[in-house]
Amino acid sequence: MRKLTRPVCPHPQSLVDRNYKHPLNKKALNDSTYGKCMYCESKVTHIDYGDVEHIKPKAAGLFPHLAFAWDNLGFACAVCNTTKSNKFFNDAPFVNPYNEEPAEHLYAFGAFLFTKNGSERGEITIKEIGLNRPGLVEQRTEKMHAIATAVNACHRINSAHLRQAAFDALMDEAGPDKEFSAVVAAQLRASGIHADASAIAA
Ligand SMILES: [Zn+2]
Repeated sequence: MRKLTRPVCPHPQSLVDRNYKHPLNKKALNDSTYGKCMYCESKVTHIDYGDVEHIKPKAAGLFPHLAFAWDNLGFACAVCNTTKSNKFFNDAPFVNPYNEEPAEHLYAFGAFLFTKNGSERGEITIKEIGLNRPGLVEQRTEKMHAIATAVNACHRINSAHLRQAAFDALMDEAGPDKEFSAVVAAQLRASGIHADASAIAA
């Protein structure tokens, strides 16, 4: 998970009309995550269309009054959205990457996310949204092997100039548009390669 910036709502009238899935609004949310799930950082648009996510559940008895509130909408993969479902814990709400810095609650170590500084919200977020589910761990592991191979290849480039260019390209893999960027940023740091501070997330 990494910090996101909430875009301006491009079509507020649709929310007034009780439509939270207007294509313009969904596209703005999708663009704000670079087509990734706001929770697990999977690229979702090439496997499904992604879901408009209600950060606080819209179910009856919970937050139905927030069903059409722009600040309560996000973009998530179908698995995270389904796993999260109507869960909500008043005393420890899920980490909301649009409103806060996830790195204060979570950190990546290897292919797993862990709770930072005992954060109960971080722990509940990992557990209840399934951020260490087997499919994710498998995909992150594959990504980490590819990064490790690329790091070694960079080190073996003889020309200092070409080597630096290769490292710079590798650091792009921790950019906000890249899948599992928080995991990759942590791996690059552990490899002694420092991406710029803005690329570092959980
Ligand atoms: Zn997800």
